[in-house]
Amino acid sequence: MSIARTRFANLPTPIEPLLRLSHQLNGPEIYVKRDDETGLAFGGNKTRKLEFVISDALRKNAGTLITAGAAQSNHCRQTAAAAAMHGMNCILVLIGDSSQASSGNLLVDRLLGAEIVWTTSEKREAAMQKAFDAAQKAGQRPYLIPVGASDAIGATAYAFAFFEMMEQMPDVDWIIVPSASGGTHAGLVLGAKRTPEWGGKVLGISISQAEAKQQQLVAGLAAQASDVLGEHMDFLPQEILANADYLGGGYGVMGDPEKEAITLFARSEGLLLGPVYTARAAAGMIDLIRKGKFSKKEKVLFWHTGGAPALFADVYSKGLRESGLI
Ligand SMILES: *Cc1c(COP(=O)(O)O)cnc(C)c1O
Repeated sequence: MSIARTRFANLPTPIEPLLRLSHQLNGPEIYVKRDDETGLAFGGNKTRKLEFVISDALRKNAGTLITAGAAQSNHCRQTAAAAAMHGMNCILVLIGDSSQASSGNLLVDRLLGAEIVWTTSEKREAAMQKAFDAAQKAGQRPYLIPVGASDAIGATAYAFAFFEMMEQMPDVDWIIVPSASGGTHAGLVLGAKRTPEWGGKVLGISISQAEAKQQQLVAGLAAQASDVLGEHMDFLPQEILANADYLGGGYGVMGDPEKEAITLFARSEGLLLGPVYTARAAAGMIDLIRKGKFSKKEKVLFWHTGGAPALFADVYSKGLRESGLI
């Protein structure tokens, strides 16, 4: 298992008990894996993936990282930081237009010196390719990172994150994690499969896609990542747990369940969730606890993938204000 990795994340991230939250929900033993504290310009799960991606980019002598995401993408913010710290340029292809306020992640993207190209969701792939071609022509040695850094290399990072957890707390019964572009979920599932003595389950809370699609996406990425680890494994879509009951108003829409999760975590534990991913996954976990899915003796590990900087985006801070919760 020797795969090139450039180390810059603050690892291992701690696992902390959430005693007050467990008590308030009268539920299982809840713990949190603090991947919101990986350290790269406010951190998050993309930092782990980028350790492997940057290593590949450096090996290929890249001069410019190009990736894409939503206007408030955490992935793009961490990619811009990784580029800056390795002396590379960064081009971010974001959905929206230049009238977007410089708040939240977008403010940080700009501070980090990223060049921003605006597009629509339909034209995103074409816009990335266009930016790549232009950078290549200009001699900037571009390197394309897919949305969410969810390719085989990026997903592999989360198999290692699983092994890290096994060193800290091997008796976890459930891992609960947001699942969007799928690399995080896929890596954890791969790590679990490589650890047959582990008795727990990995439950992804889908952020934006129906269950069957998410299962297929994650199974495919996990299989690809297994090849990077050097031992092919097959994954059936049916063996992936991807709950899609909490899609709410769709990607990036912070509804009442997300707002409740944000204030509950903040006020019971002093812990900040992001409005897009971690609030939705936490809202799913809270609902499943209320429905009695977990026994009181079980240990549930909420994998905090970050995203709190988006709380400071105008769109989300306004949404929280208008809800009357703050
Ligand atoms: C990208 C992201 C996720 C989702 O991870 P994927 O690997 O894309 O499924 C979850 N939480 C946060 C905060 C993210 O930025």
